[in-house]
Amino acid sequence: MKNEYYSTVALYLRVSTREQAINGYSIHAQENKLKRYLKDQKIKYDDLIIFADEGFSAGSTNRPDFLRMEEAIKNDQIDLVLATKLDRISREPVDLELFFRVCQLHHTDVAAITGEIKIDTANGRFVTGILSLISKWERETTKERTFDTLVEICEDGLFPYGYTPYGYKKTNKKLFIDETTSQIVKEIFSCAESGNPLELISKKIKILYDTRIRSDRIGTILSKEYYYGKFVYGGKSYYNIFPAIISKDTFCNAQAVRKKRYHAIQNKNFYFCNQLRCTCGSILCRRLTKKKNKRYYYYYCPECKKRINQDRVIEELLPDLLRHADHKSLSKELKYYRRKHKYLSDRIERLYEDYIGGQIDGQVYAFTLSKLSADRDSILKKINLKCSIGFSDFYVMTNEARYELMETYVSHVVIDLKLMVIVKIAMK
Ligand SMILES: [Zn+2]
Repeated sequence: MKNEYYSTVALYLRVSTREQAINGYSIHAQENKLKRYLKDQKIKYDDLIIFADEGFSAGSTNRPDFLRMEEAIKNDQIDLVLATKLDRISREPVDLELFFRVCQLHHTDVAAITGEIKIDTANGRFVTGILSLISKWERETTKERTFDTLVEICEDGLFPYGYTPYGYKKTNKKLFIDETTSQIVKEIFSCAESGNPLELISKKIKILYDTRIRSDRIGTILSKEYYYGKFVYGGKSYYNIFPAIISKDTFCNAQAVRKKRYHAIQNKNFYFCNQLRCTCGSILCRRLTKKKNKRYYYYYCPECKKRINQDRVIEELLPDLLRHADHKSLSKELKYYRRKHKYLSDRIERLYEDYIGGQIDGQVYAFTLSKLSADRDSILKKINLKCSIGFSDFYVMTNEARYELMETYVSHVVIDLKLMVIVKIAMK
């Protein structure tokens, strides 16, 4: 694709009524993205034709501009069709294949640009591979479509979400400092900087401003980088969306003070200690979140900035752990399910090793992993039903006993935080 020359390039844009209703950005975002892509890839052309179907879904190819484009392809007037995602053309595998056949017949290249997948030409290899990838796309495209639109909003210096962050007011997605509440934000940071615990800050705010802000909310406010003007979206930092309320120094000082306090609180509700690892190699840190007086225990990768709930880890780990600990004498059926579970876990582990060893690419890895983990989940459900004895034992244990159990048996666990799947369990 890079440095190619085409006589006529067609951009195909489509947005459904539903997508339109959510925001007006999509068509505009698609066109910009494609033009940027042509430029980045240094693709040369004489003519650029834009085909845009607004308010049409991917379910049918009966769309005016799509039909016009197909007609032009059949008349050998187009050399390259470019779309942001294949689902812009169609979501139906059959329709896609038909379209590719027409393109192939008339020597028209088709390219779709996505975050991960790049399809260069409508050649046979791709057409045959398409069915196996459809399910993956379906999952990813919804996520990415929304993502693209939000990136576009950020690029315009606007705040992409619906709510208004505390300390600000918002007009047409543009943020301004709110005179009253920004004073409270300033006060919260200055209190934290001097080492006050969250409860005390909450009381002080009540006295000074006659406003009740719960201590966990104060914790959340203190964690927001946007108060010094930095807003991260899609891995990119934007400094023109949030007007700063505090300085970066103040933010960092408040963080340092808070961290010190956080580590001082010893927590027995975490069952793992440095045993959980991310696929990137980092050891996961413990993270405690409080919501409506309920506590949630997470493990967080400082590199990938992703986290997993402890309950989710336990749920996945428990069958292996109980099998390993040879906890109870088991029924035949249960033994079978556990063997099957072990088999799937081993396959996932081998897949993961093939992936880090470079034998398979990321696409195959993600696709196969999602299939295997779905199988394993369904086995897990069966095990859960059958073996309530072993599991309930775990659930009546004290937190300390659970910690002991992990300490005794678990050497380390590798978790793919992107897909929320345990990919490797090493027992002691
Ligand atoms: Zn990581």
